[in-house]
Amino acid sequence: MISCSCGFIGSERRALCPRCGSRDLKEFDPESGVVVETWKLNVTPEGLEESYYLVLAEVKGVKIILTSTEPVQGEVIIQGGKALKRGVG
Ligand SMILES: [Zn+2]
Repeated sequence: MISCSCGFIGSERRALCPRCGSRDLKEFDPESGVVVETWKLNVTPEGLEESYYLVLAEVKGVKIILTSTEPVQGEVIIQGGKALKRGVG
């Protein structure tokens, strides 16, 4: 995710801030978010035993898509684009 000194936060890398036009955008990795919705992926690649979930989560008011190997809800830990249950493992 990216953030700008004007307060803009976005989920995609950009060259310019869409709000103020600044090039001084900082990348950051969100550490946690709140799950808005979860979908199970019914079609998984052959050879993979695990089922996957697509997770729509909200971080600082911005919605991002994560993946998970188990259904998650509420507040989750975000690690490398994956949503992890809090306090587990
Ligand atoms: Zn800005």
